[in-house]
Amino acid sequence: MSSRSYLKEIDSRIPYSDPNAFDRSVFVLHDQLNLSVWPDWVREQKPLLIFMESKAKGETLPYHKKKITFVLSSMRHFALECFKAGYPVYYHATDQSFGDGIVEVLEEYEGLSLTYMTPSEWDTRMSIDDVKREFEDRVTEIPNTFFFADVEQWKENIEPGYRMEYFYRDMRKQTGYLMNGDKPIGEKWNYDDENRESLPKGYSVPEVTSFEPDTLTQEVLELVVDRHSDHFGKVEDFRYAVTRKQALQLLDEFIEERLVDFGPYEDAMATDEPTLFHSTLSLYLNNGLLLPWEICERAIKAYENGNAPINSVEGLVRQILGWREFIRIYYEEMMPEVREANFMNFAKGLPELFWSGDTDMHCLQQSLKAVIKQGYSHHIQRLMVLSNFSNLTQTDPRELNRWFWFAYVDAYEWVVLPNVLGMSTFADGGILASKPYVSSGNYINKMSNYCKSCEYSVTKKTGEGACPFNYLYWNFIDEQREAFEVSGRNSFMVNMYDKKSDENKKAIKESTKHFLNQLDRYSG
Ligand SMILES: Cc1cc2nc3c(=O)[nH]c(=O)nc-3n(C[C@H](O)[C@H](O)[C@H](O)COP(=O)(O)OP(=O)(O)OC[C@H]3O[C@@H](n4cnc5c(N)ncnc54)[C@H](O)[C@@H]3O)c2cc1C
Ligand code: SF4
Repeated sequence: MSSRSYLKEIDSRIPYSDPNAFDRSVFVLHDQLNLSVWPDWVREQKPLLIFMESKAKGETLPYHKKKITFVLSSMRHFALECFKAGYPVYYHATDQSFGDGIVEVLEEYEGLSLTYMTPSEWDTRMSIDDVKREFEDRVTEIPNTFFFADVEQWKENIEPGYRMEYFYRDMRKQTGYLMNGDKPIGEKWNYDDENRESLPKGYSVPEVTSFEPDTLTQEVLELVVDRHSDHFGKVEDFRYAVTRKQALQLLDEFIEERLVDFGPYEDAMATDEPTLFHSTLSLYLNNGLLLPWEICERAIKAYENGNAPINSVEGLVRQILGWREFIRIYYEEMMPEVREANFMNFAKGLPELFWSGDTDMHCLQQSLKAVIKQGYSHHIQRLMVLSNFSNLTQTDPRELNRWFWFAYVDAYEWVVLPNVLGMSTFADGGILASKPYVSSGNYINKMSNYCKSCEYSVTKKTGEGACPFNYLYWNFIDEQREAFEVSGRNSFMVNMYDKKSDENKKAIKESTKHFLNQLDRYSG
């Protein structure tokens, strides 16, 4: 099938604009879908907008079928909206990379110059960099303005000991968000002590609105089924927003129905509740349909109007203005070497269950079910269930990073890599995080109701039927002393291990050995 066979809807709704009739064009990537952050001249002059679908990019990883659907459908809808708003649009489909696709356009239309915004992802950036060098008099790069922070201002701060908290406080001062002059509103930077609650039994969780696929989306679904049937995840029941209007509807809904409970239950997990009070807005933030300041300012307004408490609003602002921006600066500073980070030298392949979801460990089964079905799970499932298990089973963190990158609908390398190799696996040796994120079954039991329906016993520490997180955790503490010594803070866990009886230590080692021996690893 030619690359255009699945573009019939676009081709029938956007009349062909001959690029020969233009001398200036703007290349809009699939994660830059918002013209309000582009320079004024783009909106004033309405140059030819070039959109591109790269088959090669879709095949670089076995991306979740819903991720490909989301990315392509959002871009097609956006291109159509731009056309309706009076922009000439050229929608290009190529089998090649983005860089080669741009070369195809520039070679065919020799009078055309092209402006593009720095791509967030490294490989796309590199492939377009080559084009910029080859066509230096026709191609212009402009800085990426989809974020709050200026990379150049912050990136030299990234080093061991520079923590998100320092950056976040400076960003609060810079934006004035939740500030009273130089002081944080409420005299506190952080309300975590009011958060971190588990969900009370029977507490009602509002549903997130879902959207029926329209004909544009249906055509993308056909493409995905045809080209990517061997990719990760389920394609059925695609219900994500694919337009700014729909994404704004989800933002309204979050502010009105879930923000109040966002803070208290930010770390909670519950059976068959993959989203709880989380915003689920990362998808739309990461492709530009929503902008980070829009979400923060809506939340702050809700606080000012007395409609949301400070602990929830500060918690949300911290995630977006703090964590999201911080990890992007980290990515800019640490690439590309950080891709190979593996502080603990773990070499085992990814457990097979990350692909199949087949496991009788209820917490894992619940977290994986959400990913396989929707390409989404919330932060604590990513950190304290999936990454925790990967760490405890000595999985190569680069394999885990690859999995998170293709399995989640909101994953792009700039955001997934720092979260996996920096935060959740300690693979960078302590530059981003102060300690490895590992825990025994106790933490999962405290924050969820998973253990109640599990075949394993969370109170049993070793032997048959014991929760695997329990013995795997103590084995990790023993074997990874160095990682805990880096931070100094957690050496008391090492001391606790050392104080265990020889018999207990032997049982931990035996249970661990047995579990790791029978754990299937993915070899695809
Ligand atoms: C191992 C691991 C992998 C992750 N991979 C991704 C990823 O591929 N893409 C992604 O967007 N986020 C990723 N995160 C961060 C975070 O888990 C998700 O942003 C969040 O779960 C998205 O769901 P939400 O929109 O409901 O978030 P909410 O809980 O509602 O938070 C609001 C927003 O804050 C931002 N945010 C919160 N924490 C982070 C963080 N640590 N890094 C960046 N942004 C953050 C997100 O934009 C999110 O939409 C990862 C975290 C971990 C531990
Ligand atoms: S008992 Fe262990 S494996 Fe089972 S749900 Fe609880 S933490 Fe997970």
